[in-house]
Amino acid sequence: MSKHTHAFQAEVAQLLHLVTHSLYSNPDIFVRELVSNASDACDKLRFEALNNAALLEDAPNLEVRVAFDKDAKTLTITDNGIGLSEQEAIDNLGTIAKSGTRSFMEKLSGDQKKDAQLIGQFGVGFYSGFIVAEKITVESRRAGLKAEEGVRWVSGGTGDFEVEAITRAQRGTSITLHLREDKTEYLNRWKLKQIIGRYSDHISLPILMQKEEWDAEKSEYQLLEDWEAVNSASALWSRAKKDITPEQYTEFYKNLSFDNEDPLTWSHNRVEGGTEYTQLLYIPAKAPADLWNRERKAGIKLYVKRVFIMDEAESLMPAYMRFVKGVIDTADLPLNVSRELLQESRDVKAIRDGNTRRVLSMLEDLAKKNSLPASEGADGVTDVVSDEDNAMVGKYDAFYAEFGAVLKEGLGEDFAHRERIAKLLRFASTQGERVSLADYKARMKEGQDAIYYITADSLAAAKNSPQLEVFKKKGIEVLLMTDRVDEWALSFVPEFDGTPLQSVAKGAVDLGKLQDEGEKKAAEQAAETFKPVLDKLKDSLKDKAKDVRVTTRLVDSPACLVVEDGEYSTQLARMLKQAGQQAPEIKPILEVNAEHALVKKLDGSAHFDDLAHILFDQALLAEGGLPEDPAAYVKRVNALLA
Ligand code: ADP
Repeated sequence: MSKHTHAFQAEVAQLLHLVTHSLYSNPDIFVRELVSNASDACDKLRFEALNNAALLEDAPNLEVRVAFDKDAKTLTITDNGIGLSEQEAIDNLGTIAKSGTRSFMEKLSGDQKKDAQLIGQFGVGFYSGFIVAEKITVESRRAGLKAEEGVRWVSGGTGDFEVEAITRAQRGTSITLHLREDKTEYLNRWKLKQIIGRYSDHISLPILMQKEEWDAEKSEYQLLEDWEAVNSASALWSRAKKDITPEQYTEFYKNLSFDNEDPLTWSHNRVEGGTEYTQLLYIPAKAPADLWNRERKAGIKLYVKRVFIMDEAESLMPAYMRFVKGVIDTADLPLNVSRELLQESRDVKAIRDGNTRRVLSMLEDLAKKNSLPASEGADGVTDVVSDEDNAMVGKYDAFYAEFGAVLKEGLGEDFAHRERIAKLLRFASTQGERVSLADYKARMKEGQDAIYYITADSLAAAKNSPQLEVFKKKGIEVLLMTDRVDEWALSFVPEFDGTPLQSVAKGAVDLGKLQDEGEKKAAEQAAETFKPVLDKLKDSLKDKAKDVRVTTRLVDSPACLVVEDGEYSTQLARMLKQAGQQAPEIKPILEVNAEHALVKKLDGSAHFDDLAHILFDQALLAEGGLPEDPAAYVKRVNALLA
């Protein structure tokens, strides 16, 4: 049979160069990567065999074997999974397909030292074998093909690889690493067993190694023909919680998610009564780059009776919880379930509801433990804080900073849980940094009957908005909302715990009981005496403003713009326009401060019309907008300055 030489895809060559020429912070990871590939190959076979039992041939027990040969200096990882055809070997072992490896490639900085660390964190699949091997031989036969249709793939990890046809009785793949001179430490059962225990214990297949016996004569260990499993060989989620260490949960998460940071928290449950399933859900610490893409797939893997069915099972989690990673295993779905079927299944709906509630309670728990109770009790005794509680401090803040804006989408999406979501919201305010609606309510002023908020493009714009003036003067807290989704999301929360939410930039200010009778009288009177000027203003600005009225909202500023209750704010309309979306044309209402010197000047002014337009345009500028005709604005101001 003839051999053929093939060149690696350019990216692979680049990756291999890095793998073989850099220092490796953690060479052990090649074991994890190769064992994980072997396990995936077995999962694939099991899945295909559901519809074609003949693929299992006479070896239905799927397993991975790890063997080494001290004399030959080789380490071989063998599986009896799906195997590779010749073409698959050429395609899959010569190019980069895997999303994890691809995102690794994208993160490469060109700085060898940093990049080498990245290899340790990410792993780069099959190619990580070249961290320790100067040559790799892969022998494989795809399940269902004849013995003569086996393949041998050999490469020294530089520019190319060789492929030839071989006869191979056994189905599946053997990967033989010819270790480099300085990496022979891996020819050691104890070491390999330890690495497998650390990284691959959760693999649901048995990982077998030969037993050893001490040979006193030769004074070294001899391998026996007796194989034993060196991992727990049960899917992590199917084990009892008490038998799983936090390290094992964390390691499992990293394998599942391609994330190299520890998760913030996880929850592992067996749900019974009705639809039965096991749920293991993680909340990551960091948002992935494409979190904003609502098309981004859910991070949930679906298993049916331990058989892997699919990644990214979006039907199992609502879109606003797309940051959650985890595994669902159920016996209540058929093994051949498809994505289409999932969408219609009542069991899937039950699982999705269960997952949603679980994630909400995980978040509630994080929120509760986010800060420690005041360290000194009423009795003057300092409470002892457990390490566990200490470790939870700040986690909800961390979660919220990364995923808060995604969670808010739930207000519009998940009517049933709106209240629970609303309780999880946190906002900056004129009096604090991460204020919940409940915090706000608890410190509302006597006589205050609404939760006030302002939406703006930035925190600075919100803080300095003229609309806040009267609230500042009266010491009333206002929530400052600067997330793009805030205004949209808040439109689904008309009230919280019986108290209405009120934008300070919408409708007339009615501070209700917070305003004393004297103030109200004075305002009414001002409006009365000011009426002729107002009418003139309305006339001058009839193309720009829907109405002009006197307000008590302002203290230092001459004017501001507001919209009616229920209308889009001018910022939201601006934002939609910038995003190229359709936005209704909104004519705002100009509110003026009758006490302001500039406004007082209007009466009888020879420049009335110019002043009126300047007032309007400045109000627009103050909230981050732009005058419709900036040049005209500048001209008017200059005319007055001169
Ligand atoms: P990934 O496994 O994440 O896709 P790798 O670089 O590790 O990326 O492997 C590339 C491809 O090679 C795999 O997707 C798979 O198709 C194939 N492969 C690797 N190891 C095996 C194996 N033990 N059995 C069958 N196919 C394998």
